[in-house]
Amino acid sequence: MADIEIFDKRFRNYLLPNGWLKKLYTGTSWAEGPCYFADGDFLVWSDVAGNRMMRYVEGLGVQVFRHPSNYSNGNTRDREGRLVTCEHGRRVTRTEHDGSITVLADEYQGKKLNSPNDVVVKSDGTVWFTDPTYGIDSDYEGDKAESELGGSFVFRLDPQAGTLEIVADDFLKPNGLAFSPDESLLYISDTGISHDPENGPHHIRVFDVVEGRKLAKPKVFAEVADAVADGFRLDTDGNIWTSAGHGVNCYTPAGDLLGRIPVPELVSNVVFGAPKRNRLFITATTSLYAIYLNRKGLQRP
Ligand code: MG
Repeated sequence: MADIEIFDKRFRNYLLPNGWLKKLYTGTSWAEGPCYFADGDFLVWSDVAGNRMMRYVEGLGVQVFRHPSNYSNGNTRDREGRLVTCEHGRRVTRTEHDGSITVLADEYQGKKLNSPNDVVVKSDGTVWFTDPTYGIDSDYEGDKAESELGGSFVFRLDPQAGTLEIVADDFLKPNGLAFSPDESLLYISDTGISHDPENGPHHIRVFDVVEGRKLAKPKVFAEVADAVADGFRLDTDGNIWTSAGHGVNCYTPAGDLLGRIPVPELVSNVVFGAPKRNRLFITATTSLYAIYLNRKGLQRP
């Protein structure tokens, strides 16, 4: 752990003496959307620009999981363990147990979604996702197109009721999102500096979750210096482990920056995995990395 930056001595307890950062794979164009499957001890992630999904199996290596992937980006699993995927091909899908793919959402009030980016499933089965324009801004990570919605929103989808509603409309480019352990809070990043280098946000905000379905009282939780917080996940104590440029930052629930794991490439997202959930998998541009920690991820993938 020699290279790991420790800003607060509490961070030492989160690290392991031999918990080195290890590169597991190189060969993607833009790695994103890591999602761990404890039932098979494997990790699925997206190569967004490569229009494919990959799978890392401990002890076996990497294979292509899905190609084409409709420019998949963020991934998670629902309460039944099914893979839920944001696709820059302008939809959110669910992969059923039999392998078939169900479209959960592709439009809002008759207008196409922009390019769903990241997603989390709440314990009540509702699917919360962000919908910035990165996948339609160019022909690289999807197909270039105009936004029909005219804005980038955060959505709450209820697959059982078949409803889709906007829960936040004051983001420039909403991106990663994750609930606190008791789901009373929802953290959402805004990476809008990509489109407004002078004044655009590069922070994570935290919202109160009201009645389990609405957001209130937004506060800036953490601003990432010289970078953005793209995707992030929480550990069992509610600490936030977030992508932050060429590294992963760890913040307490109070917003204190405890430390930083430098990564040789630009990091997009993280997820806890391994059978003990004590390994942080990191998607970073062309590569997949992992590091064992003295922490456990929330059971929610
Ligand atoms: Mg993202």
